[in-house]
Amino acid sequence: AVKPTILILGAGYGGMVTASKIAKQFGSNDANVTLISKHNYHYQTTWLHEPAAGTMDPDRTRMPISSVINTNKIKFVQDEVNEIKKEENKVVLKESGEMEYDYLVTALGAVPETFGVGGVFEHAFSKWTVNGVREIKEHIEYLFAKYNNEPEPRDDYLTFVVAGAGFTGMEFIGELSKRIPELCQSYDVPKNKVKMYVIEAAPTALPGFDPELVEYAMNLLEHRGVEFKINQPISEVNAEGVVLKDGEEIKSQTVVWATGVRGHPVIEQAGFENMRGRVKVERDLRAPGEDNIFIIGDCSLIINEETERPYPPTAQIAMQQAETVADNLLALIKGSELKEFKPDIKGTVASLGGKEAIGVVGNKKLYGTSANFMKKMIDNRYLWILGGAGLMLKRGKSPL
Ligand code: FAD
Repeated sequence: AVKPTILILGAGYGGMVTASKIAKQFGSNDANVTLISKHNYHYQTTWLHEPAAGTMDPDRTRMPISSVINTNKIKFVQDEVNEIKKEENKVVLKESGEMEYDYLVTALGAVPETFGVGGVFEHAFSKWTVNGVREIKEHIEYLFAKYNNEPEPRDDYLTFVVAGAGFTGMEFIGELSKRIPELCQSYDVPKNKVKMYVIEAAPTALPGFDPELVEYAMNLLEHRGVEFKINQPISEVNAEGVVLKDGEEIKSQTVVWATGVRGHPVIEQAGFENMRGRVKVERDLRAPGEDNIFIIGDCSLIINEETERPYPPTAQIAMQQAETVADNLLALIKGSELKEFKPDIKGTVASLGGKEAIGVVGNKKLYGTSANFMKKMIDNRYLWILGGAGLMLKRGKSPL
């Protein structure tokens, strides 16, 4: 019999765990499997706030795909996916043209959501990728270096604006606020010249999170000099900084955009029904009406039946979906029954820089060093799932 062809698009949390699980579970005659991604490395998006603020080397967030995926079993193609032609069972790649598939797993991740605010792509930093965060770090250091060499003091060089007090924004400002004293010291800049703002349109920081933990996080960050502007939508980003809806202008040369994401544009292009680029998938994780296309991670949308609202897109869900998809692909090939995906939310922990963090694990609230310990364990557990103990020991974080 002819072996079916499986294409996995994107080597992030969803794509990598799918590939890794297939490599372990499939027999060599079950399928030809190809993983396609833009870079020849996998990067951990959930770590990127650290290199963005300069508290971690960006190389620590990435690893060669061939070092974790068995490329004898899974073929890897480095290329950019430009299009999915679902009626023809083909994807169109930037360099290598068209590729046909029998089964498709789409795990291309997300792009920034601007909510229609003008100037984001021109004037703000919004790319949460390895190359995107390197630019943020270098830009901040450059402004510190430049500050003392200007004829007139430019306060906007030392004013940092984070748009969005969600997970990404809070984790980033946590790292940056922790690093500021060190930057001031090494660049001869008085600390009181530095201003940090977090601007949030919703009525609270970290919407949906436990209010006591939110308060803890805000107090801690305020103590490090962060000013919150909550319930204050940004109406425009321009070359001078940001303009708020109430007319206030904040002059800043560094606006970091973290107001949330939408699914990868290829989803909309392919003509899947979607909400902000995310496809509300069936319980078996296939796109509605498609019997051979699975969509997972930030490109997918699943409803929390308790709250009747969508789950926020997370690495945690992407990885769990990947496990189900690997099982369901094998079930399709073998003609057995497909599984239903049920998320098992183990907890949520946000780091706040240094040894500080907040989180909920089970129904327990965690603060400070115990939350920080848990955060490191979560990061390490992922490496364990992906590449076993070896990868965890080599690439993991010390929990202390
Ligand atoms: P990704 O992991 O983003 O992977 C997408 C992959 O597709 C990438 O490798 C990319 O290079 C590739 N790709 C993109 N476009 C193309 C193309 N056209 N062609 C080929 N390849 C392409 N979640 C948590 O659960 N816990 C956390 O603590 C947490 N912290 C976060 C902190 C930060 C700073 C950020 C930005 C996110 C955080 N998240 C967290 C969210 C989490 O990172 C995402 O939900 C997760 O990465 C989604 O996985 P994915 O597989 O859908 O996409």
